Amino acid sequence: MARPPRIAKLPSALIDQIAAGEVVERAASVVKELCENSLDAGARRIDVELTAGGRTAIRIVDDGFGMTAEEARLALERHATSKIKQESDLWGVETFGFRGEALPSIASVSRLTLQTRPPDAQEGFLLRVEAGQETDARACGMPQGTQIEVRDLFFNTPARLKFQKTEATETSNVSEALLRLAVANPDVHFRLRANGRVLLDLPPHRDLSERVRAALAKRGAGVLHEAVGDENGVAVHAFLAEPACAASTTRNTFMFVGRRFVRDRSLLQALSMGYGELIEKGRYPLAVLFVDVAGEDLDVNVHPQKMEVRFAQPQPVYAAVRHVVQSSIATAPWAASATARPYSFPPSTHSKASARAAEHAPPRHVPARAPSLTDAPVANLDQVFKVYPLPALPPSNAPLGSLGTLPFVGVFARRYMLLEEPGVGLLMIDGEAAGHAILLAKLQRALLGGPLAAQRLLFPIPVSVDAVAAAWVGRSPAALAPLGFDVEVFGSESILVRAVPELLSHSDPKPLLSAALSALLAGQQPTFALANMVACAPVVRLLNERDAQTLLQQLDTLGVNAQAFVARLGIDELAGRFGRS
Ligand code: ADP
Ligand code: MG
Repeated sequence: MARPPRIAKLPSALIDQIAAGEVVERAASVVKELCENSLDAGARRIDVELTAGGRTAIRIVDDGFGMTAEEARLALERHATSKIKQESDLWGVETFGFRGEALPSIASVSRLTLQTRPPDAQEGFLLRVEAGQETDARACGMPQGTQIEVRDLFFNTPARLKFQKTEATETSNVSEALLRLAVANPDVHFRLRANGRVLLDLPPHRDLSERVRAALAKRGAGVLHEAVGDENGVAVHAFLAEPACAASTTRNTFMFVGRRFVRDRSLLQALSMGYGELIEKGRYPLAVLFVDVAGEDLDVNVHPQKMEVRFAQPQPVYAAVRHVVQSSIATAPWAASATARPYSFPPSTHSKASARAAEHAPPRHVPARAPSLTDAPVANLDQVFKVYPLPALPPSNAPLGSLGTLPFVGVFARRYMLLEEPGVGLLMIDGEAAGHAILLAKLQRALLGGPLAAQRLLFPIPVSVDAVAAAWVGRSPAALAPLGFDVEVFGSESILVRAVPELLSHSDPKPLLSAALSALLAGQQPTFALANMVACAPVVRLLNERDAQTLLQQLDTLGVNAQAFVARLGIDELAGRFGRS
């Protein structure tokens, strides 16, 4: 059993360089991280200056609240951050940074000079670090704020240096990174100079709309149509250029969740789908999309550069984007002249934004005002119909294995499926419970055939657990493998998750692992852990008949016992309620 350990702890300088590999790829990532710090520090003005595309020097000057000498020293230490204190702060973080990695990472692969002065200090403080080692520290004169100069980026990591592109490409990457930050922060003055030439100068703007238009002026956007809407607690705000501006790359498609620029295939698809047939498949609109969800529904800590986020409930977010874009697009000033327009919608009267956009449009483009349903006086439904209170329904003996063959009536509240049992009554099926039952059946079947298939995470995620659980995993590291987890102990109260069960890869890995662990720690068989784990899976939302049919078919083919989530309203009973039995 006992063999000498072949593993050893890495020296901390090397750890910083490895972290730098994740956070700092090129000059543009340095600029992004440092400008995000400036924004987090409340800066109203950020000046960026590049020499040789950032390879020789990157200089960033802000007028934010600065740091004391002590804070400046701490800031250059790994995992030192002023932005979060405990795990729960991770949900709904409002600052850009929180991992405390950027400054030490950048300092470990360059010669970095930090100068900083908080508003109440008499003088500033200067700190110089080369390849992570402090080489100078002293007082200095300077205005309030922070100035960081990064010289000779990657001078001590030749492998990384080799991957740098031409000066022109690196400069354009920086400019792109800065533009993204500028779009989402309209009240901040951003300026970029490269070898002394001004490439970007965006003074503070009154609102988002002005900033977006100014930032995209050089992209040939023409008239941007503003779409605003809210669905299921998802706020959508989009600026949409005409379909003719669409391209085969996503260079001109800017998507933000909160104020964070993100890449997300499904979000991109939802946005394009909002344009309907106006944009061909495989092309992407020139557009700026802002999506806002409640903090607790958002995990931003899934990517070192935080370019990806995870929604607790992704489907409603995508649906909201699609619907808001779709329903507003017909009122776009360019809509009348767009080709391949399938329908002519009445203009929406709700959205102030679209009304404003229509006002500014050249008159010939404004669609004619047509009467719409919303113009009708709203009747009080209670006065029109007598409302019959329904007592709790008895469970049905649903005809198992043939739900998919029954006439489909509809989807209700995005959750319930209604089916007709001819001559018998109405079946109501809870789609959420059905979705979970299907998942459980699939997992149970898969487990009979051997270990569950695992899905590697892009980046391992540390999960806090109690010491007992960590020790247990340490003793039996293979115990979780049959369930599709790849984990390793990471400190006395933390476990690093590298892979999760493939069938549950849409679930948040943290509660998922806790669910599995609590069953196994209680001495239960892996198969018992499955039900715990399924409870962590996101619930299905039924948007249309297709979604419902997919569920019904799966219920049928997997032979799931549907008793627990199907209720029947008999024809006789219904007739009785109306006093006509
Ligand atoms: P993070 O942003 O994740 O906290 P960083 O390594 O980027 O980590 O920065 C570490 C800390 O240094 C920040 O939390 C902040 O307190 C401080 N800091 C960095 N840049 C600035 C700045 N421009 N102005 C004021 N404080 C800063
Ligand atoms: Mg930061």
